[in-house]
Amino acid sequence: MLDYTFSEEQEMIRESVREFCEKKIAPIAIKMEETKAIPRDVVKGMAELGILAPTADPKYGGAGFDAVTCGIIAEELSRADPTGSIPVFYLVQASWAYVLNKYGTEEAKKEIFPKVCSGEWFLGIATTESDAGSDLAGMRTTLTPTANGYMVNGEKMYISGVREVEKYGGGHLTLVKQTPEAGTRGMTMVFLPLQNKKITITSFDDLGREGISTGGFTVDHVEVPKKYLIGEENKGFYIVHEGYEFARGLIAAICASAGLKSLENGMKYIKQRKCFGQPLGKFEGVQFPLAENYVKMTMLRDLAFKALWTRDQEDKGKAKRFETSKIVAMSKLFASEWACKAIDDVMQWQGAFAYTRECVDQAAYRAVRSFAWAEGAKEIMRVIVARELLGKDFITYK
Ligand SMILES: Cc1cc2nc3c(=O)[nH]c(=O)nc-3n(C[C@H](O)[C@H](O)[C@H](O)COP(=O)(O)OP(=O)(O)OC[C@H]3O[C@@H](n4cnc5c(N)ncnc54)[C@H](O)[C@@H]3O)c2cc1C
Repeated sequence: MLDYTFSEEQEMIRESVREFCEKKIAPIAIKMEETKAIPRDVVKGMAELGILAPTADPKYGGAGFDAVTCGIIAEELSRADPTGSIPVFYLVQASWAYVLNKYGTEEAKKEIFPKVCSGEWFLGIATTESDAGSDLAGMRTTLTPTANGYMVNGEKMYISGVREVEKYGGGHLTLVKQTPEAGTRGMTMVFLPLQNKKITITSFDDLGREGISTGGFTVDHVEVPKKYLIGEENKGFYIVHEGYEFARGLIAAICASAGLKSLENGMKYIKQRKCFGQPLGKFEGVQFPLAENYVKMTMLRDLAFKALWTRDQEDKGKAKRFETSKIVAMSKLFASEWACKAIDDVMQWQGAFAYTRECVDQAAYRAVRSFAWAEGAKEIMRVIVARELLGKDFITYK
């Protein structure tokens, strides 16, 4: 029996997040393109609502939310912030708090979560390097056990939230090579605080989502205490996928919400803008893409919540590891592409105005485009789905 309803508690959470979004986020969202930062009072407001790192256990200051509840919050944030900055700030912390909560040491969780959940610190993820993104086996950052912990040395690139950590504190769950000859079976994950004289941070001028930084950092022989080990040594490659999968479901929800919000904006526009003596909305050439994009965004949203629900089922022992991998990859595969197309059509209806910074939809377009790579390129989603359909013997890579 299918039940597509959210619980009463989830609807109340949506209500309070929406109210916060309308009052505090929507009015300042587009300004983040200039200020290039999320206002601190917004971060504090999110903390007060309990939606920062909401997957952390309440005993460490989190809300203990499941993936579906996190998806509800993600879509509300995405509706309110066309720049995508706040949704990204939220989804990264929700996903990696999930991993820290599941695999982190008691000492690390007691230290890190209260600061992340209160909005003081940022918690990110660092796997990508300049020569290793989709194919993590190519990474070069190393970890060597020492008497008191581990020595990390190397470089990470295209990492979200580096400037936030540099300024306010926190760190990234960082995937490194401990046993290089073992390939993906030789990777370990540690929490790496970035405020360290031996860590140099750089950042990029991104195409979109300007309210949150993306950049890189070099690590020059930095010692990490044992308490910051995430899970077991040499198991990092498997652990990291649990975080990426959590994130992929949220990204699908964020893309669907951004697309639906843009279609709403578009519908208002085509009802009032007249061309050739009638509203644009009366032309079949405008109605058909509206209908098609609406159907695609609805399908995307449904698949996103099915993926998030499956994630929760796995936590209850009712779904297998690879069932989750497959459905979250399915949900993210077309997320960026379809949402970009929906937003692009809305921009087309708005004529030259859409090519100005006054039009909020162009910000949404640039934000949503990032998800064709971030948290796994869309081609890698195809690789995962095909792997689950055909079996591991048909994988084209080692
Ligand atoms: C805005 C933004 C924020 C990011 N934030 C983070 C972060 O916080 N932490 C982090 O670790 N990383 C982050 N990333 C990096 C992201 O995870 C990588 O971009 C992604 O994994 C792809 O890696 P790559 O960019 O090195 O591309 P590559 O792996 O070099 O791939 C390049 C292209 O080749 C194609 N390709 C690759 N493999 C295949 C294949 N098997 N079959 C067919 N085509 C293929 C794809 O089109 C892909 O886009 C971020 C990226 C962006 C854009």
